[in-house]
Parts: sequence; structure tokens; C-alpha cells
Amino acid sequence: MDVEASRSIRQAEVGSTRTMIVRTRETFDLYPEILVADTAYGSAENLNWLVNKEGILPHIPIIDKSRRKDGTFEKSEFVYDHEKDAYICPIGLPLRPTQRAYRNRKSPVAADNTIRYRASKYDCQECLLKKYCCPNQPVRNVGRHIYEGARDLARELSLTDAYVDSQRRRKKVEMLFAHLKRIMKLDRLRLRGPNGAKDEFLLAATAQNLRKLAKLIPQPV
Ligand code: SF4
Repeated sequence: MDVEASRSIRQAEVGSTRTMIVRTRETFDLYPEILVADTAYGSAENLNWLVNKEGILPHIPIIDKSRRKDGTFEKSEFVYDHEKDAYICPIGLPLRPTQRAYRNRKSPVAADNTIRYRASKYDCQECLLKKYCCPNQPVRNVGRHIYEGARDLARELSLTDAYVDSQRRRKKVEMLFAHLKRIMKLDRLRLRGPNGAKDEFLLAATAQNLRKLAKLIPQPV
């Protein structure tokens, strides 16, 4: 449907996806329901753009740096309560964002766009599960990105059969890239600069589409 050359850095690749989604809509009046992609496209900002701005379901593995290596409770064991704006810990006590805001009189949103939810010091001191939760800290903290809602939706979708099917179909697209590189020799570019890359990509994608169209013509018996 479209092709957009980009530099091989994550932000540029995400930007080219957005360009193609908008351009495909403007050119063909097509509104994709689902975007299937790999982890590089699973940042909170991109998921938020897809879900809340474009209304597209992300079949994308999310970038999750919250995994703990010391065997203590994972973030997934803390349940977010929307009404109370609090995480509920494994023994049912709340972690709230307010302490930091009150003490420092600053916005609770940190520079990395996350809000820290903290348990009460009193609760953690008395807790029998502290050694499984925050053995080296006085209280347990859980971070929540300001676009965590979109991340939660992506997490839920990743458990569906439709997601498994999407990931299987994604491999077919990867095969097209492999074909471009190996058969059409696009493993290196001949023309210079971004415009040269753009022209080569467009020509290669056109050739690929013509090849596909040729296959649709019935062959004489
Ligand atoms: S240590 Fe604190 S946050 Fe962890 S389970 Fe106990 S009370 Fe909850």
C-alpha cells in the first residue's frame, strides 16, 4: 500500500509508520483496524498515538523495563484501581502517587513521563511479605507511565488468539523484506542521501507489486 524510507533508528522508523498510516488514509481512504509490528514500535508514546488518536488496535509487544531480576514481586502483581488512582499491592494495601507531590510541591510526573506510586512506610514496615516485595528499600514503588492505559490495552490484546494470528501473518511481511534484500539486491543503496533512498525504495516496492500482479494473471494451460 505504501513505502517510506527512514534511517535505521527507532524514532525514524516509528515516524515513517505514522506517515504511511496517514498517507494511506488520505490516498486510498483506508482506515486500518490493527497495526502489527515488533517491539521497536511498542513505546508508550506510539501506543498512545495509535490507540487514543488513531483508534487502531496495537498488536505490538510492549517495551517493558519494569521486569525485576531479584525475584521480588513483579509490577503485574500490583493491580491498578482507576477509581482510587492507586495500585493495590498483593496484600490489598494501596500505593498512591500523592506523597511525592505533597512533599516536593511538584507535578507527580517525572522527567520520563512516569508517576511513582509509593506504599505507606508504616504498611511496609509491618508487612510479613516485605522480604518478597522490597527487601532493600523502606517502601515499595511502582511506576506508571502517563500512557499506561494504551500499554494495558496492548498487554491485554497480546493474550488473544487474534494477536497470535497477527504475529504469524507478520512473518509474511518479513519475507517481503528478505526478498527485497536478497533477490532485488536492496541490501545496500546505490543512490545517495535520503532522496536517493526514497527513490530506490519506491522503485523496489513498485517492482515487488508488479511481480505480485503478474502472478494474478492466469497462465495458459
Ligand atoms: S511490603 Fe508494602 S507494598 Fe509490599 S506487600 Fe507489603 S505492604 Fe504491600
